[in-house]
Amino acid sequence: MNTFLVFLEQREGVVKKASIDLWNRVQELAASNPGAAMSALLAGPADMRQLDGRLFGTGVLYHANEEGFRLYNPQQYAKLVAESLKRAGATTLFFADTALSRDLAPRLSVRLKASLLSGCTVDDAWVDGGGCRRPVYSGSAIASFVAERPLKMYTTTPRASSLSTTTSQASMTVELLEPCFTGEELFPLVRRLAMHKGVQDVAEAKIIVAGGRGMGSAEGFSLLEELAGLLGGCVGASRPVVDEGWRSHAEQIGQTGKTVAPALYLACAISGAPQHLAAIGSAGIVVAINRDPHASIFDVADYGIVGDVHLVLPKLIEELQEFLKKR
Ligand SMILES: Cc1cc2nc3c(=O)[nH]c(=O)nc-3n(C[C@H](O)[C@H](O)[C@H](O)COP(=O)(O)OP(=O)(O)OC[C@H]3O[C@@H](n4cnc5c(N)ncnc54)[C@H](O)[C@@H]3O)c2cc1C
Repeated sequence: MNTFLVFLEQREGVVKKASIDLWNRVQELAASNPGAAMSALLAGPADMRQLDGRLFGTGVLYHANEEGFRLYNPQQYAKLVAESLKRAGATTLFFADTALSRDLAPRLSVRLKASLLSGCTVDDAWVDGGGCRRPVYSGSAIASFVAERPLKMYTTTPRASSLSTTTSQASMTVELLEPCFTGEELFPLVRRLAMHKGVQDVAEAKIIVAGGRGMGSAEGFSLLEELAGLLGGCVGASRPVVDEGWRSHAEQIGQTGKTVAPALYLACAISGAPQHLAAIGSAGIVVAINRDPHASIFDVADYGIVGDVHLVLPKLIEELQEFLKKR
């Protein structure tokens, strides 16, 4: 029998949406694999009520509710996951593709002699035999990978369509894990850079208003902030924008930034280079504004506006304000 273990990541006690989506996706995968069982690990203190109505299906949730696990600590987390795998009898481990899992999963795969398949979607993973398909060369080709080791690990990119899976309620058994947090650290935490409170993480956002080099300056992004505010979304950026220092790296979307899966992605003055497009493949609706009608972003956009952002965006903001006033 195949048992899946899903790693639920929390930050400051809030379980990441990407992890919840992942759990629901893997439930669907388990449903199509007769005899497969589900388990999850939540490392660190978190109020379990936040999961009510957001997880579906059945399974065992192991919760390491100890304060020592609140912050990511590679050695301790690796030990904890290894222990949970054993406890669950799991042979397949899933992580959402995040900064934490990009650090933890390779460590674990070496430690546990596991096959690590990174950057695929759950839909593109197969567990019978183990393997996945995923884009390579910045999305210009699809390659198939086969996992040869008995223990398989996947880091998976999000999918927008998994946002709606709240149909059937979960019937989860919660088991408290009581692992020993020893506090030993080979690489002690020197400083933790926190995002401003209340700022959405671009990797978790449902609506992203992203700007490229064509926004012209850091000040040009005030239009995007205003629009994102009206839509209840957050601002994203292409790499040149971050290289110029107009926006922080936390907002960078692309091969060397974050992978996103919003329901709506608004790309403003972004050309649509493969390294950028590789990270927005799971977006729901893509709207592009660009003054070049031949820009590659229009190849992936559902709706396109050919025009200057400095003319189009103020109009869009005005219209939206009017619309919101009438509601
Ligand atoms: C290894 C590697 C990793 C990379 N990782 C990333 C990554 O993570 N993320 C990423 O984004 N890129 C990444 N890149 C860079 C990528 O190749 C592109 O250079 C980058 O995405 C281009 O950003 P851009 O579209 O903002 O800028 P540009 O390519 O300069 O495009 C600007 C666009 O704005 C339009 N424009 C200009 N002015 C206006 C205006 N007033 N109104 C409307 N439209 C206007 C132009 O027509 C143009 O299409 C990576 C590259 C490499 C080699």
